[in-house]
Amino acid sequence: MGYPRHCEGCGIAFEGVSGQGDAGHVTLAARDGGARSPWAADWPGRILEIGCKACGAIFEWDYFRPASDGRLGVSPALLREPVAAWTPGDSFARGPDRRSVYEQQRRAS
Ligand SMILES: [Zn+2]
Repeated sequence: MGYPRHCEGCGIAFEGVSGQGDAGHVTLAARDGGARSPWAADWPGRILEIGCKACGAIFEWDYFRPASDGRLGVSPALLREPVAAWTPGDSFARGPDRRSVYEQQRRAS
């Protein structure tokens, strides 16, 4: 469905992996926001924070926003660049803190 098809940090393809259990990415956080579901327009959309197991990058994922190819899911922001010397399986607590673009916007206004 609307899950990412590649990493926004390193570009590795997540596609072809069935289910979520052994996918190349993990969902680290989720909150309301972003585009609303086409099937439940009365409900808020969903913004996920996705971590790439291959490189340690963390990016936001607007679950229901239509991409240019008509599929659902767009990444509005890369929260953390790929981590140097990342080993697949490392904890996402490791490496530099992720920065929030929303916090930066709040401080600027
Ligand atoms: Zn990656």
